[in-house]
Amino acid sequence: MEVAAAEKLALEKGFSNVSHLDVSTMELLDEVRAMCSANTCGQYGKNWACPPACGELEECRARISRFREGILVQTVGDIEDSLDFEAMMEIEAEHKAHFMEAAEELRKEFPELLAIGAGCCTICAKCAYPDGPCRFPDKRVSSLEAYGIVVSELCKKNNLAYYYGADKIAYTSCFLLK
Ligand code: SF4
Repeated sequence: MEVAAAEKLALEKGFSNVSHLDVSTMELLDEVRAMCSANTCGQYGKNWACPPACGELEECRARISRFREGILVQTVGDIEDSLDFEAMMEIEAEHKAHFMEAAEELRKEFPELLAIGAGCCTICAKCAYPDGPCRFPDKRVSSLEAYGIVVSELCKKNNLAYYYGADKIAYTSCFLLK
């Protein structure tokens, strides 16, 4: 399967927007990792796919260095205002459902697929970390932020909008294809 066909498949899965991703634009920054350790999202040290369990940035760099291209996938939805958490959670859940479905399909064509998502891994209702090993190490999904990536910058460098106005929210993830 060519990358263009992967883009088409992603659109068919229900994402609002899909764009080609040049892996050389993925800049992994210590500053973003520092935000993870500030634990504003409450997931630091609670999930195998989040820091520190997901590995140092050098390990993340080594993982993505095997790829040259991929696709960015995005779900854009309506919110009433910046406090409309209910709508945000619904849109995030929709994005993740489409993301996992697309990952399953794409993995058949790209066996080394690396899926990097939005938010922490939610495959299990409760992550096994730290008491037991990850239940699905081949499927678990780390976030772009866990990779030290500024999502707005990544979108900009790959010709994808990130901000759609005060009454919209966008969730962005990517698939690296090989
Ligand atoms: S697959 Fe399950 S155990 Fe593994 S990181 Fe995700 S939620 Fe945690």
